[in-house]
Amino acid sequence: MDYYAAPVAKLIEEFSKLPGVGSKTAQRLAFHILGAPVEQAESLGRAIVLARRNIKHCSVCCNMTDADPCRICSSDRRDKSVLCVMESPRDVVAMEKTREYKGLYHVLHGAISPMEDIGPEDIRIKELLLRLQDQEVKEVILATNPTIEGEATAMYISRLIKPLGIKTTRIAHGIPVGGDLEYADEVTLVKAMEGRREI
Ligand SMILES: [Zn+2]
Repeated sequence: MDYYAAPVAKLIEEFSKLPGVGSKTAQRLAFHILGAPVEQAESLGRAIVLARRNIKHCSVCCNMTDADPCRICSSDRRDKSVLCVMESPRDVVAMEKTREYKGLYHVLHGAISPMEDIGPEDIRIKELLLRLQDQEVKEVILATNPTIEGEATAMYISRLIKPLGIKTTRIAHGIPVGGDLEYADEVTLVKAMEGRREI
């Protein structure tokens, strides 16, 4: 790193911590910033800090939000009798883009994975069960990813929900196995929701 002045080296180091950014890309991004007007660099820096500081988890659905409860949870146009359980906020964005689903969400922030030492207590299952004590929920759609971890998580949750007498469904396998919901196209996602089956 002796090739770079210390602030440049620091900038490259920070960029290379981002997902999918290798050292070459980090260097390219850093030099781009250094070649841009100061205002642009300031605007980028402010946007990063502002987003990070103001975005938190909704106390109801655990999705990312700047308002609590989030806009979906507090909307009176959503069907509060249906809960769609998803692994990540990115999955919720994918589902919202279909404009077909009108219920509420619950974001787990991960999936059960013994390989990665992620157990049920490490994701937001406890919060989900707490919500289900509210009699309003009539159906829980388990829309975790069609991966081994996603399937295991769906099975685990369905076993917990069964005794509560709430209808539990699993999205259909229109999504390629091993795929991520966030990358599924909108038609596939809508079909997967339509083809959901009770488990
Ligand atoms: Zn919410």
